[in-house]
Amino acid sequence: MQAIKMNIGGIKCDNKECDFNYMAVKFEDYTDWLNKPCPKCGSNLLTEKDYFAVKAMFDITAMINETVPDVPDEELCKMSVDFHGDGGATFSEIWPVRRRNNLGTLKLHNIN
Ligand SMILES: [Zn+2]
Repeated sequence: MQAIKMNIGGIKCDNKECDFNYMAVKFEDYTDWLNKPCPKCGSNLLTEKDYFAVKAMFDITAMINETVPDVPDEELCKMSVDFHGDGGATFSEIWPVRRRNNLGTLKLHNIN
């Protein structure tokens, strides 16, 4: 398994008082959402600063994975990153993803 795997997707309104989100959006379709208004409150759904910050994370991850050896599946951990519209981001805690032998992966909830 690669050292870092990024699952990038979903759009959330940056307005803290608004709960609009559309998590089915894929990273490759983000340009369709650039500078689009939130259907609930009108705030910008994806600023160029956030888009380029996400792209930079994507590129850095690719560079790290080219130079760092693969890691065992048992060491899989998860974290989430939320961007706020100004290119800045909040990184969550890091959770271990525990696996059972031959029973598949235990899924953790509310992590995306
Ligand atoms: Zn909104």
